[in-house]
Amino acid sequence: MNVHQWQDLTSTELARLVDDATVAVLPLAAIEQHGAHLPLSTDLDIGLGLLDAATERLDLEQSVIVLPPLALGSSLEHSDFAGTLSLMPEMAIRVIESLGEAVHRAGIRRLVLFNSHGGNKAVIDLAALKLRAAHAMLVVKANYFRFAPPTQVLPAEELRHGLHGGALETSMMLYLIPHKVRVDHLSDAVSEGRLREQAGSTLGPEGDAGYAWMAQDLHSSGVTGNATLADAETGRRLVEHFGARLARVIEEAGRFDLTTLRG
Ligand SMILES: [Zn+2]
Repeated sequence: MNVHQWQDLTSTELARLVDDATVAVLPLAAIEQHGAHLPLSTDLDIGLGLLDAATERLDLEQSVIVLPPLALGSSLEHSDFAGTLSLMPEMAIRVIESLGEAVHRAGIRRLVLFNSHGGNKAVIDLAALKLRAAHAMLVVKANYFRFAPPTQVLPAEELRHGLHGGALETSMMLYLIPHKVRVDHLSDAVSEGRLREQAGSTLGPEGDAGYAWMAQDLHSSGVTGNATLADAETGRRLVEHFGARLARVIEEAGRFDLTTLRG
């Protein structure tokens, strides 16, 4: 398999390895509160678990180089809860941009930003565009939580509203690192977004007319979703599904025609 960890290579090995076809993958995560049942590392753990599942099934001739994960992300929305470590959004953009610059300087023209934290999406969009404006390089924004979920694995309502620490994340943690889940503390945190939808409101925390929210606006516990629906088998199906989808994204990044990036 042609997958390398950036930091395990020597500088000369990396320089020799890289060509126009090389794909770099930068995992982007968060260290932030996930309620009473999941650790602060949840987004990092899930991101690395999905990346492992993806690299196992990669079908690509060229080299894929995985950068060290950026564990800290933009978690302003969770900053009122103990344990959250956050980069300010402007700083997060600069950090992602700087890492992208280093990737470009190494001669790599294909970068997949693989993100496992919802709050990073906005900063990734801007950092990716800035990198593209500066360089004729492909910058892919792969947010696993935006990948189409597997069918019939969790109720549609839970998938729509269980944004944080709900059945989706808890199931994957029960599969990937079960000892980190405090199973005595699983609960059903009904999101303000779900209540608003049921009341027929056009304003919600996400969607075409979303409003800016802090985690406590959606539920006082900081969690949204029903973690009591979680189990390890559901987690296995989710990890395999999202991992396979990520593998395809990386493969397609490797086969992308760079001449369509004009100027
Ligand atoms: Zn999370």
